[in-house]
Amino acid sequence: MTQTHWIDLRSDTVTAPTPEMREAIFQAPVGDDVYGEDPSINALERKVAELMGKEAALYVPSGTMSNQVALKALTVPGDEVICDYNCHVFNYESGAASALSGVQLHPLPGEHGILTAEQVSNALRPANDHFATSRVVTLENTHNRAGGVVYPLEVIHAVHAVVKGAGLKFHLDGARLMNAVVATGIPAREWAAPFDTVSLCLSKGLGAPVGSVLSGSKEIITKAHRFRKMFGGGMRQAGLLAAAGLYALEHHVERLAEDHRRAQVLGETLAELGRLADDLEWVHTNMVFLKVDNAPEFSDRLKAEGVLANATSPVKLRMVTHLNFDDNQLDQTVSVLKKLLKR
Ligand SMILES: *Cc1c(COP(=O)(O)O)cnc(C)c1O
Repeated sequence: MTQTHWIDLRSDTVTAPTPEMREAIFQAPVGDDVYGEDPSINALERKVAELMGKEAALYVPSGTMSNQVALKALTVPGDEVICDYNCHVFNYESGAASALSGVQLHPLPGEHGILTAEQVSNALRPANDHFATSRVVTLENTHNRAGGVVYPLEVIHAVHAVVKGAGLKFHLDGARLMNAVVATGIPAREWAAPFDTVSLCLSKGLGAPVGSVLSGSKEIITKAHRFRKMFGGGMRQAGLLAAAGLYALEHHVERLAEDHRRAQVLGETLAELGRLADDLEWVHTNMVFLKVDNAPEFSDRLKAEGVLANATSPVKLRMVTHLNFDDNQLDQTVSVLKKLLKR
């Protein structure tokens, strides 16, 4: 039910709801969620809290709001948030952490999006009036800008030891956490366990039209609930949207393996053509990056062949596989790449 004839590999956000998901939306019981009376939202929040092994969860309109209400709930103005310099919170959230929470970000050069415990430890501020107060460490799994990289669980545990040793809070931008779950077989609650707050997007590979869910302790989620209202994210009969999220969690998780398989095929094709930006070992989930001499120009040439992909740098393009990209389109894309990139 895509509304387009393009092969659209710009992002996994471009998916349209399937007929079955539309039926679930149509059937959804609703109420006023600002009064806590929307049964579909309540069910979704319970389901995600359970999935993540947390006490409570909060449905929000976007992944950005989910990350930002978490940071607001975990910090006070003047605090510092340690993150990887390629993370979404630092690059793609319109400066929200500074604008809305009055915190400063302390970006560190992760490799493939991965910060080590040593890097985090070295970035902690001493207790001295000159410095901002180190308050939160945020990680991203899978890592978007690094190319869908799965964070090694043992590295998360090592960073966690530093975070807790220093009395800090730990946030996970798990926009694509279910991709990591499917790629590794490690359950979501195991990935989530070290973190105080976890954000999950329903509108990426899971294929819902809208929505993210933040999970954490009752105490933090109660605070986040207030900030959701403050940030303008208190919705009313949004159970229509939550129903799509519930449907996605029930029916669209295991199929992420297909997206991963198709990304591997794209990765292998590009590797053979000498155009894969990183080694194949870094294609972990549903993204591949190709390197070309002129990315905007190559994006136009792909478009002329019916394939959409975004330039992410002057010499790199990203392709993301998803629910509305099937084996037929994969074959076509492979042919286009071979035609345009043959050596
Ligand atoms: C997409 C994304 C978000 C949030 O996206 P919204 O467009 O605000 O829903 C957050 N983190 C990562 C890693 C993402 O890829």
